Amino acid sequence: MKKIAIIGAGISGLFIANLFKKNPNYQITLYEKKTSIALEEGYGVQLSVNSIRFLNEIGFHKLRNNEKFTPEKINFYSNENLNKICELDITNFNSENCQYTTLKRSSLINFLKTDLEDLIKTGYNISNIDQQNKLIKLSFENGQSYEYDYLIISDGVFSKSKSLISNNEAQPKYNNTLAVRGILSKSPENIDSKNIAIFFGSNYHHVIYPVNSNGDLNFIAIIKHPLSKEEQKKQTLFGDKLFIRKVLEKFPLKNKDFLIDLKELKIFPVFVSNNFHKLQNDNIHFIGDAFYAFPPSFAQGASQSIEGAYELFKSIENNTQGDFYKNRINKTKMVNRRSKFNQFAFHLSNPLITFVRNIFLKVLVKNKKFLEFYLGKIYNN
Ligand SMILES: Cc1cc2nc3c(=O)[nH]c(=O)nc-3n(C[C@H](O)[C@H](O)[C@H](O)COP(=O)(O)OP(=O)(O)OC[C@H]3O[C@@H](n4cnc5c(N)ncnc54)[C@H](O)[C@@H]3O)c2cc1C
Repeated sequence: MKKIAIIGAGISGLFIANLFKKNPNYQITLYEKKTSIALEEGYGVQLSVNSIRFLNEIGFHKLRNNEKFTPEKINFYSNENLNKICELDITNFNSENCQYTTLKRSSLINFLKTDLEDLIKTGYNISNIDQQNKLIKLSFENGQSYEYDYLIISDGVFSKSKSLISNNEAQPKYNNTLAVRGILSKSPENIDSKNIAIFFGSNYHHVIYPVNSNGDLNFIAIIKHPLSKEEQKKQTLFGDKLFIRKVLEKFPLKNKDFLIDLKELKIFPVFVSNNFHKLQNDNIHFIGDAFYAFPPSFAQGASQSIEGAYELFKSIENNTQGDFYKNRINKTKMVNRRSKFNQFAFHLSNPLITFVRNIFLKVLVKNKKFLEFYLGKIYNN
């Protein structure tokens, strides 16, 4: 029996642990630095069909309907006049059991950890990774150390494991944007609250979508906001009331009244990956944001984390690990290009250019060939 250590119990680590748990040839242990698995109440996550397909293999389709939502459209609006520009039918990519799904992160994490209680060790912060011949020796800050045949690193965008292995070479960079998140229990006027709404503004966009059938809506705004190196590291800044007020005042919105209803508001700087880190050891792998973190404007981080975890599971099972890195890089590059392009297109400022963008968008959302290329290549892997 092969022993596998997974570091980080986020979406990717929990998902791959569920997959290995079903195979008696592997014994897994999942190490998490926090003292409990974070069930961040509220905030939402969008999952496209590429990840739903894999989640269904561990029973996601059985998750209660009041814990998830299946929007059918993405409605695009302009912040300028609040007029709807056009809509995109996302059901085109759905199949009978795989539908574009939105839900609270806490519902997803709760589902993923349900069958793993005895395999998760909380309060374990990695301190050293020693690659000895075929075995990998892990040491933790609590003084304990263990040996494994495989190591799967899924400790997120600020991956300490990656820093340890790369001698601090693979550090993420600030994306020059802040993310403002919250939950709305009341829908803002004039939006279709049964679907995803994206509002474009100058150096800004926000997205509102339902996360369950109770009418709770997730709000996420991405706003350009340069920060100095010191500010990027200053965690207290993002909880500071004056800073939060200043950021909200910067929102280029005609009507900000609905922001009063925003609950659990949180601001955080968005960090993205700078490069890929190729490992020499075939028994150590990165997944999720530790592999690569994208700008959030294509809503693919969690879906790619799930997809990558599934691919790695299959490649270890079939002993084809050499292919994992190559295939994942290709897909990651495709998603990264689209994420960056979306952010660029969503945040345009010049009125003439935004006018032209809107005309293009109206045409493209009806163009089957374009949709197949831009979304289908990612969603129908
Ligand atoms: C604003 C924003 C909105 C987003 N919206 C979407 C969306 O709608 N759809 C989508 O698909 N994606 C979205 N994403 C991306 C998505 O959230 C991430 O890609 C996904 O959560 C990555 O999962 P992960 O498991 O790799 O990492 P994480 O979820 O970050 O989990 C990492 C885990 O590792 C643990 N850990 C950290 N360090 C250590 C250590 N030293 N030792 C042990 N454990 C450790 C952490 O405590 C944590 O539990 C969004 C991202 C942002 C920033």
